[in-house]
Amino acid sequence: MSLSARLQALKREIVDIKQKSLLSQTLPIILGASKQQPDHVIEEAIEAGLSVFGENRVQEAEAKWPSLRKHHPNVQLHLIGPLQTNKVKQALALFDIIQTIDRPALAEAIARIRDSGFGIEGKQFYIQVNTGKEPQKAGVFPEDAEALIYQCRQLQLPLTGLMCIPPLHQPPAPHFALLRQLAVTHGLSELSMGMSEDYPTAIRMGSTCIRLGRALFGERETK
Ligand SMILES: *Cc1c(COP(=O)(O)O)cnc(C)c1O
Repeated sequence: MSLSARLQALKREIVDIKQKSLLSQTLPIILGASKQQPDHVIEEAIEAGLSVFGENRVQEAEAKWPSLRKHHPNVQLHLIGPLQTNKVKQALALFDIIQTIDRPALAEAIARIRDSGFGIEGKQFYIQVNTGKEPQKAGVFPEDAEALIYQCRQLQLPLTGLMCIPPLHQPPAPHFALLRQLAVTHGLSELSMGMSEDYPTAIRMGSTCIRLGRALFGERETK
């Protein structure tokens, strides 16, 4: 199946899932998780109508996206991987949305760069929540999320959503439910949840952004 055919099939499936759901009928956006994808594949996805992409690494994004963006100014780019404080300025220059705020020092670093005169108009930030409390995984623990949300608001960062990556070998639904509950409690409208293995569940549970790698681009080469 071509990338374009896969994208069309995914869009039909999303509509179908939504029609059977009791939650809001607003469709989630499809974010193309384009790590390791070469420019020509990304171009093909853009031609097929995909307009939102996510990258995991600042360095990889910096190599790929400045020229892609020049040719496709309407594409929106999200950071979906961990961010080191010494890469904040580069990340702010590259990404429209940073989904992975996960600690106070990072929020402070962003605010500091904004205060030094670096414009962040139009940018949005999500907090990544480590719903499974996995030690090797990024994200703030659920019990610390509230404090981080307050801090971001205190620093006047435009915080609009939450993101999670559930543990690999667990049913994802409880994790999505926890993320959604946190978002509702704190008045955050965006819920970035659902990947190739679990996006139907995520959509049923109110995802506003599904992050698809393999379901869209096919298997990644293992390096
Ligand atoms: C790679 C990646 C995805 C997409 O993963 P697939 O399982 O290939 O759909 C989504 N979110 C994040 C944070 C990723 O790193």
